[in-house]
Amino acid sequence: MSFNLVRISSSTPTTPIFSNLLQPLRSPSRTFIFSISPSNRITSTLVNHQRKRGFRSGIVAMAASSSVNKSEEEWRAVLSPEQFRILRQKGTEYPGTGEYDKFFGEGVYSCAGCGTPLYKSTTKFNSGCGWPAFFEGLPGAIKRTADPDGRRIEITCAACGGHLGHVFKGEGFSTPTDERHCVNSISLKFAPANSS
Ligand SMILES: [Zn+2]
Repeated sequence: MSFNLVRISSSTPTTPIFSNLLQPLRSPSRTFIFSISPSNRITSTLVNHQRKRGFRSGIVAMAASSSVNKSEEEWRAVLSPEQFRILRQKGTEYPGTGEYDKFFGEGVYSCAGCGTPLYKSTTKFNSGCGWPAFFEGLPGAIKRTADPDGRRIEITCAACGGHLGHVFKGEGFSTPTDERHCVNSISLKFAPANSS
């Protein structure tokens, strides 16, 4: 006894291939796929498949965004106490002490909290103020918010909200923007240009 694989032609494009008629009794969970059903039954099966795929991709999206959407307790668990104090509690490191204050290697500075690239080393300059200074952030990477007292503009990582420092304008530095992004070293993580 043998069965051939059969395609039933139809005017409706949703009619599937009916095949492998020997298998249904041994794998009941797949029976509905191979049984001959009215076209509306087939259609509902296809819809269920799409819904499952959508659910899975939703989980993937949640996993990807979880690196930036953390509760403060989750941040406290993954950051060092000093990183947490500055990134999440808007602290400031003591001037002249930061790892990148006098550092001028070629590469990219990313957010120490979430890893989003923030500044290129080509925009870093020596301001002499005691903290790393940049005249420009990567497009869309830096969020600006006026301090509650209205005197300074706070800059944060646009992705995770981590506190970076403040931005000052019109100080007379000979840079293309005449802006100084005054950033805590501990808010940054440098990667050399040749590391990728
Ligand atoms: Zn970030």
